[in-house]
Amino acid sequence: MKLHCLGTAGYHPSESRHTACFFLPGPGIALDAGTSVFRLQPLIQTKSISILLSHTHLDHVMGLTFFWDLLGGNTPLERIELYAKQDKIDAIQEHLFHPSLFPVIPPFQWRPLESLGSTFKLGAAQCTWFDLEHPGGAVGYRLDFPEVSLAYVTDTTCEDDSDYWRNIQGVDWLIHECNFTDSETKMARHTGHSWPSAVLANSAKHGVERLVLTHFNPMVQGLDPVGLEPILGQYKARPVRWIELAQDNTVYDLL
Ligand SMILES: [Zn+2]
Ligand SMILES: [Zn+2]
Repeated sequence: MKLHCLGTAGYHPSESRHTACFFLPGPGIALDAGTSVFRLQPLIQTKSISILLSHTHLDHVMGLTFFWDLLGGNTPLERIELYAKQDKIDAIQEHLFHPSLFPVIPPFQWRPLESLGSTFKLGAAQCTWFDLEHPGGAVGYRLDFPEVSLAYVTDTTCEDDSDYWRNIQGVDWLIHECNFTDSETKMARHTGHSWPSAVLANSAKHGVERLVLTHFNPMVQGLDPVGLEPILGQYKARPVRWIELAQDNTVYDLL
């Protein structure tokens, strides 16, 4: 199963990164819908896709206005199911698609998470959602496929006692935000974001197999915008087998 990292910036696009979207073409599941959604069209293989939204800050939903490009034409796509908390669906309908901001809302099938329970079937996967720690609220997702498990966690402050980690226990792949560096913890806490040493320590503690960091500060250029390299040595002996900084257009083979 392939995972496409379409957008790995937080806040706004940069010369090298667009904002959040990850895509699993096989099961047709997208995680968030930031400005990188324009990269989705050639990857669509299914008649139906499911979009799992973490929350509705603009860097995660801007691309919902691009979906007219994906219907008809060269894709098999006929149906777009949009999963989010009810208050986030209301915000999208009332604000993002207000006629003064966008002319015609694409034909989404709305799926309020509360109506599905905390865990539900999504194709071959069991999908579990859980609250994160972010101004305005955000949710993380865990997808348990028969052959592999994947968790997507953005935007959130990562603390040692953060409740959400119990949902990530033993996951094969964790995509976790890391907007700030270890010297910016005050700003990270103030804005509801994370820094690398906290994410690495908790990933090790909770048995994460492979960790992919994303949602980087777009004002910092280069392949290591959070200063991961100098602190990696501390985690070599810990059980996280593999740690990577996501880049736009990278594809991971999850199996
Ligand atoms: Zn964000
Ligand atoms: Zn946010």
